Amino acid sequence: MVEDNKEYSIEELKDRITDLEKQNNALSDQVEETILFNFISESFDSISNDKELIEALLEKISILKEIPVCYCIEIKSRSYKVISSYCAYDSGSNDCVEPVLKKEIIAQLQSQGVLKIKCDDVDPAVFKDKVKHKFEPYEIVLIHFHSHNVKNGVFVFVSDINNKEVFDDLFIFNQFVKIVTDKWERLGLILQLKKLNQSLERKVKARTTELTRLNNMLFQEIQTHQNTNHELNIERKKFHQLFQKANDAIYLWEIDGVASIKRCMEVNQAAIEMTGYSYDELMNMTPSDLMVKGMKGQLKPFLEKLEVNKTSKIEVIHQRKDGTTFPVEVNSHLFTLDDKKVILSIARNISEWKKIELDLIDAKEQAEESDRLKSSFLANMSHEIRTPLNAICGFTELIKEDNLEMSEVKDFADIILNNSSHLLNLINDLVDFSKIEAGYVKPTFMPVNISHLLRNLELNVQSLLYNFNKEHIKIIIDSAEELEEKLVLTDEVQLRQILSNLLNNSVKYTRKGSITLKTSIVKDQLQFIISDTGIGIPKKFHEKIFERFVQVKDKKTFSIPGTGLGLAICLNLAEMLNGEVKLLDSSIKGTSFSLTIPYYPSSK
Ligand code: ADP
Repeated sequence: MVEDNKEYSIEELKDRITDLEKQNNALSDQVEETILFNFISESFDSISNDKELIEALLEKISILKEIPVCYCIEIKSRSYKVISSYCAYDSGSNDCVEPVLKKEIIAQLQSQGVLKIKCDDVDPAVFKDKVKHKFEPYEIVLIHFHSHNVKNGVFVFVSDINNKEVFDDLFIFNQFVKIVTDKWERLGLILQLKKLNQSLERKVKARTTELTRLNNMLFQEIQTHQNTNHELNIERKKFHQLFQKANDAIYLWEIDGVASIKRCMEVNQAAIEMTGYSYDELMNMTPSDLMVKGMKGQLKPFLEKLEVNKTSKIEVIHQRKDGTTFPVEVNSHLFTLDDKKVILSIARNISEWKKIELDLIDAKEQAEESDRLKSSFLANMSHEIRTPLNAICGFTELIKEDNLEMSEVKDFADIILNNSSHLLNLINDLVDFSKIEAGYVKPTFMPVNISHLLRNLELNVQSLLYNFNKEHIKIIIDSAEELEEKLVLTDEVQLRQILSNLLNNSVKYTRKGSITLKTSIVKDQLQFIISDTGIGIPKKFHEKIFERFVQVKDKKTFSIPGTGLGLAICLNLAEMLNGEVKLLDSSIKGTSFSLTIPYYPSSK
C-alpha cells in the first residue's frame, strides 16, 4: 500500500509487499484466533454435552486451520479411548480415524506435554482405508492435557501434505487446548459447584425442614411448658391460699435421721396468730420449743411412732410467746419432699372442744346426780308418805275399838292429826315445787304489814314447837323499829312461804336452844336472818343445799321427815321477789340463813 507520494524502487516495493503479506497473515491469524476463541466461548455457553462440544470445537479448528483430522482421546492405564473426533472427509460416522498410539509415544508425550511427529514415523494403520485416499497425512501434533473430568487426555491434530506449514507455529493449537481445558476445567468446576450447590441446597432444605420441624416441636414444647407453668402457677397460688387461709396452724419440719427435727421449713399465718411468734421466730424453732415443759418428753416417742406409721395424732399443750397455754391436737404425716424427709403437722386449737367436753362431763355428772337424787327422792317419798299413812290407818283402826279409854282415844286422834298434817305438808311441798317448776306461780305485789306477818309467823313456830314437843326452844323475833307497822310492797304469800320453810327447818333440826328471826333494813334492802342453835349442816353440803332433793342423811337426821324441796322452793320464790336467799353460816353450833328482798315501803 502506497502511503504517500514518495518514489519506491521495485525492490523496495517487493519488500514492502512481503511485509504487508506478513502483516496480512499475522492479522489473518489473529482473526482466526479471535474467531476460534469466540467460538469456543460461545460453544461452552451453549452446548452442555461434552462429546458434542468437543466435536464442534474440533470441527471449528479443523476448518480454520485446514487440518483434515483431529480428535480427543483419554489415556487409561493400559489403553485409551476416543472421547470425540472430527474428520473433514467423514460422512458423519466418526470412525474415519482409528488412532493407534504406541506406548512409547504416550510416555514421551506425558513427559514432554507436546509432541510433533512426522507421519512417516507413525504406523500407517493409524488411518482407515476409506479415508486414506482422500488426504495425505503429513504431520501429527499431540498435545497432552489434564482436566478435572479427563485426567489424562490428548488432543491429536493431523495435517495434510498440502498444508505442511500448519504446525510450524503451534501457538494456536496450544492456546486451543489450553482454553478448552481451562474452560472445561471451569465448566467442571462450575458443574461441581452446581452439584455442590444443589447438594448444599438440598442439605439446606433438608436442614431447614428439620429445623422448622424442630422449631415447631420446640414451639410446642415451649407452649406446653408455658401452659404447664401457668397451671403450676394456678396450683401454687391455690395451695398457697389453702395453706395461708387454713384455720389450723400448719408446720413443715425437715427431719434429720430418726426422731430428730432439723429445722422448720414453712409455717402458715394461723401458726403465727395461734402462737404469737413472728414468722422468723417460728422458722428458727422446733416442735419442742412450742410445747410446755412437762410435755417435751412426749416428742421423741411420737416421732418414733410417726417413723413407723407415717401418720400420727397427738394431743399436747402449746405455749404462746406471752406464756399462756392452750391445748392442741396435732395431726402429722411423714413423707419425702425433694429427697428430704419432712413432717407436715397440722395443729388445731382444741380449747373450745375441751371446754365443751368438760361441760358435757359436768352435765353428765349433774344428770347422774339428778337421777340419783330423784331415785333417792322416790325411795324417800314412798317412805315419807307410807309412814304417816300407816300411822293414820293404824290408829284409825285402833280408835274404832269399843273398850278404849277417853284419854287413849284423844292420844290416837292426836297421832292421826299430826301424821295427817305431816302428810299435808309433804303434799303441799311437792305441789308447790311442781307449780313453781312449771311456771304457774307468779308474784302479786301488794302492801304487806311486816309486823303483822312476823307475829303470825311467831305463832306458827310456837304451834309447831308444841307439835314437835320442843316447847323448851326459845323463839326470838327481833324487828327493826323503823319497820314497826310499816307496809312493804311485796308478795305476802311467797314471802310467808320462804320464811315459814326456813323457820320450819330450824324447828325440825334444832333440839334445844333458840330460834331467832331478825328483820332489818340494809341499804334499801329488807333483810331477814333466820338462825338456830340446831344440828348444823356439814360443810360439804353448803354449796348444794339449795338444789332440789338434796338432804343431809346421817344418823342425826335419819328420823327427821323432809322432802329435800323446802330450800329449792325458797330459792325460786326469792328470785321471784327479786331477792336472794343464802346460807350465811352453819356449824355444829347452829345454822343461819338470810333472805334479802327489795325494800319498797308503801303508804297503804
Ligand atoms: P327437807 O324437807 O329435807 O328439810 P329442805 O330443802 O328444806 O328439805 O332442806 C334440805 C336439807 O338441808 C335438810 O334435809 C337438812 O339436812 C338441811 N337443813 C335445812 N335447814 C337446816 C337447818 N336449819 N339446820 C340443819 N339442817 C338444815
